[in-house]
Amino acid sequence: MKKIGKPVRKIPNLHIVAKGGRATDSYIPVDFSNTEIAFADKSDKELKETARLFKLMNNPTLVNSGSKLALIAAKLHLPFFDYFTKKTIFKQFCGGTTLLDSQDSIDRLYKYGVHSILDYGAEGKEREKDFNITMNENIRAIEFAAHQKSVPIISTKITGLARFELLEKASNSTLLDGKEQEEFQNVLKRIDSICHNAARMDVGVFIDAEESWIQPAVDMIANQMMKRYNQKKAIVYNTFQLYRHDRLAYLMESFDRAKQEGYMLGAKLVRGAYMDRERLRAKEMGYPSPIQPTKKATDHDFDLATSFCVENYKEMASCFATHNAESTRLATELIAKKGIKKGHHHLLFAQLYGMSDHLTFNLAKSGYNVAKYLVYGQVKDVLSYLIRRSQENSSVTGDMSRELGFIMREIKRRGI
Ligand SMILES: Cc1cc2nc3c(=O)[nH]c(=O)nc-3n(C[C@H](O)[C@H](O)[C@H](O)COP(=O)(O)OP(=O)(O)OC[C@H]3O[C@@H](n4cnc5c(N)ncnc54)[C@H](O)[C@@H]3O)c2cc1C
Repeated sequence: MKKIGKPVRKIPNLHIVAKGGRATDSYIPVDFSNTEIAFADKSDKELKETARLFKLMNNPTLVNSGSKLALIAAKLHLPFFDYFTKKTIFKQFCGGTTLLDSQDSIDRLYKYGVHSILDYGAEGKEREKDFNITMNENIRAIEFAAHQKSVPIISTKITGLARFELLEKASNSTLLDGKEQEEFQNVLKRIDSICHNAARMDVGVFIDAEESWIQPAVDMIANQMMKRYNQKKAIVYNTFQLYRHDRLAYLMESFDRAKQEGYMLGAKLVRGAYMDRERLRAKEMGYPSPIQPTKKATDHDFDLATSFCVENYKEMASCFATHNAESTRLATELIAKKGIKKGHHHLLFAQLYGMSDHLTFNLAKSGYNVAKYLVYGQVKDVLSYLIRRSQENSSVTGDMSRELGFIMREIKRRGI
């Protein structure tokens, strides 16, 4: 690998914008509290159903015991389990069981200017056969996306294409034995097949970020794919978790590497989803936690990373994947301050399907480039994803769910 020289950093002075200064004279802030726009796609009946579901999820005891029961019911193939899940939480957070089944959700979003990022939800697989199924499903999603403007990107997880322990070993700089090297080559072939098809059909590929102890292998694969397929434009995107204290620097290093090696960096910014697991492992194994000491520190780095991406928007493509209204607002302000057109194809906002509609639909209405991560798959395959969503929306933190608050306001506004 070429040596990376010391970069000249271009991060604008954040507080000029963040501390209330107007971005430009013509800048009109997006009103994220407009629930009429946020829920325009929902009928009164659907809105009430959604409220009922979020009220149930707002009960942490119910969510915790329900999650355990759901896992048991799925294992035992209990009758009605699929039916019940599909009618409730699946309907809220997933597009459908298959690509075709997701078409309605895709079309409905697009009617309001919201794009879809297709995410085949199968997780935690360990057999080569399953990894090939995921690869084929990802390629099918790319073919499906190539025919519709509403789906510009698909996302993939390397753990859907490779054994976790193999990725961990490859990340550890432990030498892989002959059989493992062969296995790793097969992983590279799978991801290359996905990215090759994506480039051929002009569809983007987001590579999700995962646990820090497998992330070096994920980064290595993402960098290799970006170098191969991002020569003319950003097809492949790596993900940067700003809850890690080393990731802002890594984002900048990735930008420099892409410039030096002549390809375009694709960067999806997230805060990070595995905080508890990261901290616990670091404690148990006695190494310093890779996670920022406080939420404030995570927020600060997320905002600096946003600023870095906007500043360098001509030379890299970015996605601000967050449900945080302040971070989203800051990105819109920085875009305006730099005089960039709102819907620039290098600047995308994204939220998960079924969450933060107040951001998604208001951004779309104001002319920004915005998408929903649309998870699809059979109920048994997306169950872990659904459990994570319900835990996130339960009042474990002591706050009333952000989502429920907005839904109740819209119900009140409609007088229903
Ligand atoms: C479209 C999309 C794609 C995503 N893809 C990925 C992915 O590839 N990989 C991945 O890991 N996650 C991914 N996520 C999840 C994401 O990382 C966050 O977990 C989730 O979005 C919540 O963060 P937030 O920015 O939306 O909002 P917020 O509610 O403002 O932030 C919550 C987040 O802040 C951080 N945090 C909370 N408390 C602390 C603390 N005490 N100290 C330090 N940090 C803290 C944690 O990351 C927590 O999840 C994705 C999210 C979206 C919307």
